[in-house]
Amino acid sequence: MTLVDTPATATGGPALAQERRLVTAIPGPRSQELLARKASAVAAGVGHTLPISVVAAGGGVVVDADGNSLIDLGSGIAVTGVGNSAPRVVEAVTAQLNAFTHTCFTVSPYEGYVAVAEKLNELTPGDHVKRTALFNSGAEAVENAVKIARHYTKKQAVVAFDHAYHGRTNLTMGLTAKNQPYKNGFGPFAPEIYRAPLSYPFRDGGLDGREAAARAILGIEKQIGAENLAAIIIEPIQGEGGFIVPAPGFLAALVEWATANDVVFIADEVQTGFARTGAWFASEHEGIVPDLIVTAKGIAGGLPLSAVTGRAEIMDAAQVGGLGGTYTGSPIACAAALATIETYAEDGLVERAKEIGSVLIGRLNALRTADARIGDVRGRGAMVAIELVDPETGAPDAALTGKVAKYAHEQGVILLTCGTYGNVIRFLPPLTISDELLIEGLGVVAEGLKQA
Ligand SMILES: *Cc1c(COP(=O)(O)O)cnc(C)c1O
Repeated sequence: MTLVDTPATATGGPALAQERRLVTAIPGPRSQELLARKASAVAAGVGHTLPISVVAAGGGVVVDADGNSLIDLGSGIAVTGVGNSAPRVVEAVTAQLNAFTHTCFTVSPYEGYVAVAEKLNELTPGDHVKRTALFNSGAEAVENAVKIARHYTKKQAVVAFDHAYHGRTNLTMGLTAKNQPYKNGFGPFAPEIYRAPLSYPFRDGGLDGREAAARAILGIEKQIGAENLAAIIIEPIQGEGGFIVPAPGFLAALVEWATANDVVFIADEVQTGFARTGAWFASEHEGIVPDLIVTAKGIAGGLPLSAVTGRAEIMDAAQVGGLGGTYTGSPIACAAALATIETYAEDGLVERAKEIGSVLIGRLNALRTADARIGDVRGRGAMVAIELVDPETGAPDAALTGKVAKYAHEQGVILLTCGTYGNVIRFLPPLTISDELLIEGLGVVAEGLKQA
């Protein structure tokens, strides 16, 4: 099937030819036409990693209007874990579209929302009694987790960590660490947000998890005081901040301290959740049970949905009408989420994420052995990164990172970077990618490193 002449009727999903195919330069002429229109119609602040005009996607590929087929190593930032246009999702969403599209759950409820809440209560770590509330975006769910924690504890301060990313709304910009591009010029930010040092094994000078936690806790006690602190929010593995996996014991020590001090421990699993790390949730790797867990990205196969799930006594603290929103828990997104969760479970995608992880870690470690510019290989499951450095000094090498990403893009591989210092290449393939495509994509990255 050729898609070149029929972009509007292109069909995506796993039936798309699973191949890297370049028929023009990237971006090709049709993509450039769209970019020209975009430049005169869309706000300049909305940027692109890889500017192509997408017409179809599925399995492990994204197809553009020029007929190029690119290997997807980004999943639209960890969203399409089940792949684009996953069959169960398409079927469930189509049925829901034909039944009804919107009532506003806080006007008149429907079963899909409740069923998603039941699923999340069952799947998230811990066997305590739980409740869930649904929202639209990751940032909106993070905001609501903070609202809930403040209401429950009757305290105000919130601690976030170095390199954290929690979103782009006002409160979540404040929680996010990195100035450019997320915060610059957008202040003032919300008050009562404090930052603590993370455990960052590659750059921590040998601090173990317990020591790094003690350092953070000492700062919190001296500068804020537990009696003022409503919540600690942390990504169990940092996403945007550089795929930083804290040293073992760091998260558990924070949870222990939070529990002992009437502080709500919020795990932001927006990026790490839903099979991505080779577990349903990354908290499981460290054996922690967060009080509240925030999810979004991988939850609904690409439809906008997010959730806060947690201890019933905390979740139930807010007054009736205090939580909600016009579109929160849209029936269409809920139908997609139920089908997405079924797909992760029925298709063995938690296991698949582990396999993808062994391919990634194995190949990247082999590259690292031969290339001292790869300072670190880290991550879990299908959430793996390399940190690129100056081999002499260990200083972050953002220029090299940019060159490798640019090379990959030109060669038809969607590759994302991240990190406070812009020197991390992150691998977040859909869990439906084949080993062949994954290995081909990694080969392109290796060649990019060689040529840089
Ligand atoms: C992406 C992300 C968010 C924000 O989610 P949006 O849906 O973009 O608002 C929050 N936290 C983490 C860890 C994320 O990766």
